Amino acid sequence: MAPGKVLTFRAFLIYFGMENNHYHSIIIGAGPAGLTAGIYLSRAKMKTLILDAGIAGGQLILTHEVANYPGIEKISGYELSNVMRNQAVKFGCEMQSGVAITDIHFESERKWVKLSDGQEFTADTIIIATGGRSRTLNVPGEDNFKGRGISYCATCDGDFFQDREIAVVGGGNTALEEAVSLTKYASKVTIIHMLDHFQAFAHAQEAVANNPKIEVLMQSQVKQFNGSSKLESIDVTDLRNGSVSTIARDGVFVFIGYEANTDFVKGRCIALNERNEIITDARLQTNVAGVFAAGDAVAKRFRQITTAVSDGTIAALNAMEYMLNQQKT
Ligand SMILES: Cc1cc2nc3c(=O)[nH]c(=O)nc-3n(C[C@H](O)[C@H](O)[C@H](O)COP(=O)(O)OP(=O)(O)OC[C@H]3O[C@@H](n4cnc5c(N)ncnc54)[C@H](O)[C@@H]3O)c2cc1C
Repeated sequence: MAPGKVLTFRAFLIYFGMENNHYHSIIIGAGPAGLTAGIYLSRAKMKTLILDAGIAGGQLILTHEVANYPGIEKISGYELSNVMRNQAVKFGCEMQSGVAITDIHFESERKWVKLSDGQEFTADTIIIATGGRSRTLNVPGEDNFKGRGISYCATCDGDFFQDREIAVVGGGNTALEEAVSLTKYASKVTIIHMLDHFQAFAHAQEAVANNPKIEVLMQSQVKQFNGSSKLESIDVTDLRNGSVSTIARDGVFVFIGYEANTDFVKGRCIALNERNEIITDARLQTNVAGVFAAGDAVAKRFRQITTAVSDGTIAALNAMEYMLNQQKT
C-alpha cells in the first residue's frame, strides 16, 4: 500500500488476511517475469500469489550459465532463480509450485482461478507469465546434450563457441539470421535444413549465401547427437538417398520454432496471435481489463531474462495503477 493512502474496506480485509483466498494479484508462472512482478507487487504490500505448474525459476533452471544479466558477471540459472524467488518470498509473496489450473475466469471484475486439488482463488488482477519453450528435434541424444553443446538461443550461448565449428538446424528467418550472427564467434557454421528451399526472407538468404563461413546442407535431417560428457558429433541423414554421415561439431543451435505456454487460455477471452502468443498493449495489459501478461508468453521479438524482468516490472506497476484507479488498494 502506498504510504499515506487510505484503505478501502475490501482492501483492508485483503491486506489483513481476512479475505483469505482473495488477492490483489495472482501471477501465473514463476519464471523471471513472474518472480519480478511478484517482487514489485509484494514489496508494495499487495497481497500476491504466484502459481507455477513446475518449480520456481522457469527456463532459468535449464540455463547452465548466465553471462548477460547486468550486474552479475557469471551465475548459474538455478542460482539466479533462487535469488529472485527468495527476494519475492522475503517481501511476502505467496507461492505454490506444481499446480494445475483446471478453470480460470478472467472477464469479471473479480478474477477466479481453480486448481486441480480443489483450491479456489480470486484476484483483482492477473498477470500471465507462463513463458514458452523452443521446439525441439526429439531425436536421440538431444536431452543429454542440452546445455552441453546443444542450444536454442544464439544470444545466450553464441560466445561459448569462439573459433569452434558448429551447426544450425532450421530454415526460417530466425535460423538464417542467427546462423549469420553466430559467424562472429564460430569458425564455421553448417546450416542443416530438411527442405530443398529456405522459408526465410530474401535478404536473410542473401546474407547466408554471401557469408564464407557458412555452408549449407539442404534436404538433410539430424538423426542423432553423439558425445560423452559434451556434444562431439551429429549423425545427419541425406533425405535424397537415406545415407547417414557423421559430422564432428562442438555446438548445435536448433531454431525450428517457438511455442508460448498459453494452452490454458486458448478458447477463453484472452486475445492471442497466430502463434498463440499473448497480445498486449504497451502497458502489457491484454484485451481484458485487469489481466496483464509478461515475459516470453507475450507476442514480441526478443526473449531474454532481461526482457522478461522488464516485462514483469511493467506489468506489476500497471496492475497496481489499474487497482488504484479501480479503488482496489
Ligand atoms: C537453455 C536456455 C538457456 C537460456 N540462456 C539464457 C541466457 O543466458 N540469457 C538470457 O537472457 N536468456 C536466456 N534464456 C532465455 C530466458 O531463460 C527466458 O527468456 C526467460 O526465462 C523467460 O522468462 P519468463 O518468466 O517469461 O518465462 P519462463 O522462464 O519460461 O517461466 C515460465 C514459468 O511459467 C510456468 N508455467 C508454464 N505454463 C504454466 C501454467 N499453465 N500454469 C502455471 N505455470 C505455468 C513454467 O513452469 C515456468 O516456471 C535461455 C533459455 C533457455 C531455454
